[in-house]
Amino acid sequence: MTASRPPHRWSKRTLTAQAMGKIDPTTKGVVPPIHIATTFIRDPDNQYSSGFVYGRPDNETIREAESVLAMWEEASSAMLFSSGMAAATAVFMALKPGDHVVAPTVMYWALRHWLLTDAKHWGLEIELADTSDLEALRAAVRPGVTKLVWVETPSNPLWTVTDLAAAAEIAHAAGAKLAVDSTAATPVFTRPLTLGADVVMHAATKALNGHSDVVAGALCFREQDAFQQRVALNRKMFGAILGPFEAYLLMRGMRTLDLRVRAASASALDLANRFANHPHVVAVLYPGLESHPQHALAARQMKGGFGHMLSIRTRGGETTAVATAAGIELWKRATSLGGVESLIEHRASIEGPGTPCPPDLLRLSAGIEDVDDLYADLDGALRRAHGG
Ligand SMILES: *Cc1c(COP(=O)(O)O)cnc(C)c1O
Repeated sequence: MTASRPPHRWSKRTLTAQAMGKIDPTTKGVVPPIHIATTFIRDPDNQYSSGFVYGRPDNETIREAESVLAMWEEASSAMLFSSGMAAATAVFMALKPGDHVVAPTVMYWALRHWLLTDAKHWGLEIELADTSDLEALRAAVRPGVTKLVWVETPSNPLWTVTDLAAAAEIAHAAGAKLAVDSTAATPVFTRPLTLGADVVMHAATKALNGHSDVVAGALCFREQDAFQQRVALNRKMFGAILGPFEAYLLMRGMRTLDLRVRAASASALDLANRFANHPHVVAVLYPGLESHPQHALAARQMKGGFGHMLSIRTRGGETTAVATAAGIELWKRATSLGGVESLIEHRASIEGPGTPCPPDLLRLSAGIEDVDDLYADLDGALRRAHGG
């Protein structure tokens, strides 16, 4: 677990490119070594003056990547986990039996599934609400009983937007904490802690790493309070810390975070605009479009871009949607998101029964390829799926 340092003179992009300027003190290498030791020597006076004792609670390579994340999110501390789900479940497991939780109807499907099936075995009472509708959120939150409001914005895979400042007010008035899955927004475009959230979660597997070669998760905290301490205990006791090799790869990926997500977000906006006028597309779901019902809120809350994620609904229903995904050549037909390569997925196929995802929906994760190539490939696949 890494506490952030005082405010910095240099910009976030600058500090990230240089991984906070850290160099190897022994060789003066500009890339710090990967720290792989699981155990550390005790001092003659029986103390551990280095601060390191054992590899399960803590690791220097993990701390270095955490310090970059804490800086981005303006957090008092950051913690890296072995996956996004490990990070998310560590938050829920820090609650107590009987605690009431409000979570969104539209959210990352695996977490929603766990909340609705397994979380009750931990004594948690889970209630789903449309958190993008503040009245619905207000109605679901129970003062003194609700301990956590979990939101995801923009939310997977419909890209609805939740007003974080308002959600924080509603949660706090009831005595609950607000946690935000900010994976799709990335810290480049949204900083939930500065809007009042208490915890930010990232599937670092996605845009933070950006190269589809690491599974990792992160939590960033506004305060180092008792709740944060309980989550830290969970990470230590469940052994959910990220491995040092993965942390090194994540750090290497994050050095270009700012460049990658700005490029991918510009492509996503361009694609959204072009497909909004496509004869074989009935709707484009993207907060950056003026036609998005919450575009004004997204423009206020997301600074500098609307993210790399969008969905299109194809004319002709599920059959054409699946045929389109099968007919692409350049886009990769795969799950996940946030890599430098663009991905396309028929989302309802993977989410299964109970999904709010319409059957004609294709989820697109824009990468950093030439946007004209991306458009041409998908346009061709749509036309072929329609027999033209
Ligand atoms: C992928 C994802 C997760 C889960 O992360 P893993 O690293 O796969 O465990 C959670 N939330 C969102 C929005 C995601 O895209």
